[in-house]
Amino acid sequence: MALIDDAARTYELDRRHVFHSWSAQAGLDPLVITRAAGSYVWDGEGNRLLDFSSQLVNTNIGHQYPDVVEAIVEQARRLTTIAPQHANDVRSEAARLIVERAPGDLDRVFFTNGGADANEHAVRMARLVTGRPKVLSRYRSYHGGTQTAINLTGDPRRFPNDAGNAGVVHFFGPYLYRSHFHARTEAEECERALAHLEQVIELEGPQTVAAVLLEAIPGTAGIMVPPPGYLAGVRELCDRYGIVLIIDEVMTGFGRTGAWFHSATEGVVPDLLTFAKGVNSGYVPLGGVLIGDRIAEHFAQRPYPGGLTYSGHPLACAAAVAAITVMDHDVVVENALGIGQEVIAPGLAQLAERHPSVGEVRGLGVFWAIELVTDRDTRAPVAPTGGGSPIMAEAVRTAKSLGLLPFTNSNRIHVVPPCTVSPQEAQEGLDILDKVLSRVDDLVD
Ligand code: PLP
Repeated sequence: MALIDDAARTYELDRRHVFHSWSAQAGLDPLVITRAAGSYVWDGEGNRLLDFSSQLVNTNIGHQYPDVVEAIVEQARRLTTIAPQHANDVRSEAARLIVERAPGDLDRVFFTNGGADANEHAVRMARLVTGRPKVLSRYRSYHGGTQTAINLTGDPRRFPNDAGNAGVVHFFGPYLYRSHFHARTEAEECERALAHLEQVIELEGPQTVAAVLLEAIPGTAGIMVPPPGYLAGVRELCDRYGIVLIIDEVMTGFGRTGAWFHSATEGVVPDLLTFAKGVNSGYVPLGGVLIGDRIAEHFAQRPYPGGLTYSGHPLACAAAVAAITVMDHDVVVENALGIGQEVIAPGLAQLAERHPSVGEVRGLGVFWAIELVTDRDTRAPVAPTGGGSPIMAEAVRTAKSLGLLPFTNSNRIHVVPPCTVSPQEAQEGLDILDKVLSRVDDLVD
């Protein structure tokens, strides 16, 4: 079926004038999305697709939630922009609502435009507070596309950007399915990963390490839920060596894992916590750094040398206030937890049993990965880390043709619908994935 009129023009102008992220520009074939509602989007041919990507794991409350759209419109009529040095009602209210949901003493917010610049500022704060230059971050991680954030990232997207990578050191985190530590149990993996991190700190010189930065659960890199006690162990190492702990909850925060913040579930309070995406489901760009006492006290009498024109933009903050209010009212966080436990976990376990190309399924809440392999014994991935493969391309094509918009990376299909997904919608997605995996089984055979 051909694109309908306006969509055809959209496509043509896109191909002529829009420069896309992370891609060679020639040969791109972007999906035209014309509208969206709840868990669904519509493409330029008029087809409805179940959004199992949440648009880069972002629309936690689903698409076009009327209260949030209305709040943005109302705010636009009242006050569209205000410089960051002034106080503003929606910014104050958004800060209050975010802080109230954050663990421990994280009770100040520095607002940014998204996740990468939140990490940039968190790292800058840690360096200024400690007077130390280095930051340790994980291999198999993603922290954003700006210069420091991409250097901190542990996946291959950083390679072409590595010039000027001063002060970033990568370490291995826990990933039992492909253990770097030859561990056989979660407890072994946890203990060995912590011993490895301590060695890295010792060998780098603790007096040179400003911060350890890690995702609460690495997201884009594979949704490897750390074993119980790992995050608490990292907290303990940071305390022992005077290192600032920065936890990146850009993808995990605001309901995705069935909690407001995954670090809180693990009983861990970082010195700095970065967020974006789910804070207002991306209806208007917004991110931020939650700041604890140690960092806040440092800047009480000294200026913080950093800022952004749009820090705490009223439209973005109005969207955050409305989105968090909706999440409370509709018990969205609890829904994510329940759907994960009752529908997605058992559904994926069945798919893993049925399809030999599934190496492992893992996750929680509405945050799951299906890892695809050519051979269960060798665990050989169907695609290289950071790379594509004809099998993954065919998986995406099949999913779309059956009415599912998936999120894929390397050899994985991520199951990341909105936190508001209904049990029926989640089941609909799993049924389509069943067919997609049959196709992958055939190709792997
Ligand atoms: N940190 C994590 C964990 C992310 O998943 C992302 C984006 O996917 C970022 C940071 C970067 O956020 P943004 O794209 O808003 O700059």
